[in-house]
Amino acid sequence: MAETANILVVDDERGIREGCRRILASEGHAVDVAENGAEGFTLVGSKPYDLILVDLMMPVMGGLDMMDKVREYDPEIIMIVITGFATIETAVDAMKHGAYDYLPKPFTPDQVLAVVNRGFEKRLLSLKARKLMEERDQHLLEVAREESKSHTIVNSMADGILVTNKEHQLVLWNPAAVKMLNLNGKLEAGRDIGEIIHEESLVALIDRALLPDSSQYTAISEEIEIKEPEPKTLMINVSVIRDKHGLELGVVSTLRDITSMKELDQVKSQFISMVTHELRAPLSAVEGYLSAYLSGAAGTDPRTNRQMLERAKARTHSLLDLVNDLLQFSRMESKRVERKKELLDVTGIIAGTVELLKNRGEANEIQFETNLQEKLPLVEADRVEMEVLFTNLISNAINYNVKKGKVTISADAGDHYLNIRIADTGIGIAKEHLSRIFDEFYRVNSPETRYVTGTGLGLSIVKRIVESHYGRIDIASEVGKGTTFTIKLPVKKEQQRASE
Ligand code: ADP
Repeated sequence: MAETANILVVDDERGIREGCRRILASEGHAVDVAENGAEGFTLVGSKPYDLILVDLMMPVMGGLDMMDKVREYDPEIIMIVITGFATIETAVDAMKHGAYDYLPKPFTPDQVLAVVNRGFEKRLLSLKARKLMEERDQHLLEVAREESKSHTIVNSMADGILVTNKEHQLVLWNPAAVKMLNLNGKLEAGRDIGEIIHEESLVALIDRALLPDSSQYTAISEEIEIKEPEPKTLMINVSVIRDKHGLELGVVSTLRDITSMKELDQVKSQFISMVTHELRAPLSAVEGYLSAYLSGAAGTDPRTNRQMLERAKARTHSLLDLVNDLLQFSRMESKRVERKKELLDVTGIIAGTVELLKNRGEANEIQFETNLQEKLPLVEADRVEMEVLFTNLISNAINYNVKKGKVTISADAGDHYLNIRIADTGIGIAKEHLSRIFDEFYRVNSPETRYVTGTGLGLSIVKRIVESHYGRIDIASEVGKGTTFTIKLPVKKEQQRASE
């Protein structure tokens, strides 16, 4: 036997102890000795013994008592009883106390070795069995862990997963697929997918992948439109699952909700067509005026010519507004805005903006009225953004006004806010548009707004500016009567106290 054992010999007879030690050590085993059961059991606790040879009759602690203790401590240590009176009764008694074999005194070295080798073999076998069992348990644990890991991964995926076998039955699914296809309550492994999934296009796609001649491809991708519970676009990817011999086992379908991507794509196309359209109309007009002037078709009357150039200038102005809106928007989108907040007299900015924009209302004979309370508290704000804010709102009040309409701008101090109202007596906004008026690119499409150039970005920029200054904006409007925007900008606390 190549392996060597840790052996303990417990006997009160020195000759037996030393004899055994010599015989066993000559075979390469590591041997310890003890004089009685108590001493022997102390050693058991200090070292992992494979075998114990123990005398039955000893002072202090007898062999049977010690065997009971050892069995309790480690039932797999092999115990061999050394006995001077080997009767059937002593043997049975010793077995009951956990002995594996016994060695009758007197014994020859060969007898000792034969008994010990048998016992050690048994010890090695049980150690191997224990190791195998531990390995199996470990393996089972790993499999269970692996399974629960895959389960968790599949279940927490944002993409939907449906696995179907060759028999067209549902095998596996995840919560995302259940949600996307509105399948709640209908799922059961083994049911035909045709009965469960009512999206015919999806079932047809899976069918196609399962066709016998589908071996030409491993995956098919297609977009499908879902109507229930709400309209959605799903990108479906169906892949054939094959075993290592290439035999088809079924298909796995992944479902991705691409509704928002589709919407974004649509918004992008609409935006491009809107911008090109909005740029084209005023540019053609300007070109028309200039050509007429240069070719002499406009005649020679300086007044008519001047009017024409004024109109061309007005159109270029609105073009610039449009381009500025686009620039401001793209800066805000890319978060490249650097705000320089300072204590500002907003009313001064309002008055300046009104002066700048006044002439735009001349063609429609728009009247302006400003009621700005004196000594209004200062507001901590970015100057450029405040100019953009009021330019947008006052331009709208001019653009969406009626002939001889009025624009009234007023400002007063509230409890914690500076209140600014920009009211017009223009075309107004119908209720159904009010909730979307601050959305990007949203414009009201009506005969009255048709000739006003714009991007639909102005109010979304306004809202972002107000919010980035911790303020709020409200709108009240009535079709045919006019619109009032109310802005509240927070006033710095220290000032408030000073003015109280
Ligand atoms: P734009 O003016 O470039 O179209 P805005 O975001 O500034 O974009 O405004 C969005 C829409 O809201 C406008 O197209 C218009 O229909 C409506 N609107 C904005 N301000 C007014 C107003 N003062 N009176 C009537 N309609 C308005």
